[in-house]
Amino acid sequence: MAKSKVALGIDIGGTNTVFGLVDEKGKIESKESIPTNAMNPAEDLFKRLFEKFAPIYNEYTEKFQIIGIGVGAPNANYYTGSVENPPNLNWGMVNLITLIKKYYDLPVAVTNDANAAALGELKFGAARGMKNFIEITLGTGLGSGIVVNGDLLYGHSGFAGEMGHTSVIAEGRKCGCGKRGCLETYASAPGLKRTVFELLANSTESSVLRDVCYNELTSKKIFEAAKSGDKIATNAFKFTGKILGQAMADAVAYLSPEAFVLFGGLAQSGELLLEPTRKHLENNLLSIFRGKVKILLSGLPEGDAAILGASALIWHELKNNS
Ligand SMILES: [Zn+2]
Repeated sequence: MAKSKVALGIDIGGTNTVFGLVDEKGKIESKESIPTNAMNPAEDLFKRLFEKFAPIYNEYTEKFQIIGIGVGAPNANYYTGSVENPPNLNWGMVNLITLIKKYYDLPVAVTNDANAAALGELKFGAARGMKNFIEITLGTGLGSGIVVNGDLLYGHSGFAGEMGHTSVIAEGRKCGCGKRGCLETYASAPGLKRTVFELLANSTESSVLRDVCYNELTSKKIFEAAKSGDKIATNAFKFTGKILGQAMADAVAYLSPEAFVLFGGLAQSGELLLEPTRKHLENNLLSIFRGKVKILLSGLPEGDAAILGASALIWHELKNNS
């Protein structure tokens, strides 16, 4: 009997690295997590990862054929297979394809986590059957993966789709990338928090958030305050949605997507964020695009999205090459 096919998906985060075997329908056959130990070189991570994976590989190759390895990692370049000076890992420049092929002679593909999330959405989530959409991940930053004509957009350099670092307010907030006014300084969990503090400073409105110090304020606390009718918290979501909606309207002018798919902690704020985002997207669209662009929430389960995205990368790759 023919063996069922599975792909190994690896997602490298600043704190933990998760990996697992995923079949073509998105069923996760095995899943593991190890600490990334971000201060150590990449070689150390993959040594530990494949030591842990070896017995799993031996067990699963009796039943399954492992078709390839997909990796989601910060600043990963799809064209070269390299990770280039990731901000939260002490790796410098390292080629992950070369590194992984020392352990397994299988097809390997790498990309950044937002691109992997977009492919996960395309294969297993809310964008199934779509040819043109933009995945936006709203967490500690704003990541984006752009799918055009059924394929990820990588651009000339391999790094296309950095919506988070497009300038939305001239001379605006300082961003971690060194520029000012980037979208992610407004539309992200830390961005929402910065907005709350600006609103608190600029108004006399009473708010439960006045009693929370900056380092203890979380987007969850802001969400809960907004849910119980706190005006500052509600206005912070409205402002975030306004900035995000405007930026999305600009993206529509370039790319004409069928939908935006929102993923990540902040996206789970539901209508508090979606309602103003939808309104400002629509208000800023050219008339030829109005009423034609959907905003959807991710169809990937939060805990498994990273593995599904990384494995979707290699499933997609092999489908394109077959
Ligand atoms: Zn930036």
